[in-house]
Amino acid sequence: MAIRTIRLQGDPILNKACREVAEMTPRLKTLIEDMIETMYEANGVGLAAPQVGILRRIVVIDVGDGPIVMINPEILESSGEQSGDEGCLSIPGKAGIVVRPNYVKAKFLNGEMTVCEIEATELLARAICHEVEHLDGHLYVEKVIGGLHDVQPEDEE
Ligand code: ZN
Repeated sequence: MAIRTIRLQGDPILNKACREVAEMTPRLKTLIEDMIETMYEANGVGLAAPQVGILRRIVVIDVGDGPIVMINPEILESSGEQSGDEGCLSIPGKAGIVVRPNYVKAKFLNGEMTVCEIEATELLARAICHEVEHLDGHLYVEKVIGGLHDVQPEDEE
């Protein structure tokens, strides 16, 4: 496993759409392991493949309950609303208020390419929304209300 370089806002790769994953390969397995290690090393709660320069639909998330690997994630349902500070490992030291659904149901493939469904609320729902948007080339700053502010480098996505 290896720590990969996290691409920062302004890097054009962060604004590109990612391709779906059709099959697991040794290369993608290594990518996923590296993404998890890179997320932990950066004290993040989520990381999307384009943030390490790979345009594939893969995200890893850990809001404190262990790592979740989501391949080709798709949000099926969302409801409710939560408003809170959000950050991003590609925009270090900053955060801003983003309104997100308080509940999402998502479908994805896990690291073994098994179809899974997850129902998430609060931080996990927020993280799923944030990471899925990365796969379509979007950053949370597009949704920030009232501008960014400085934060300590922790609890970032
Ligand atoms: Zn992010």
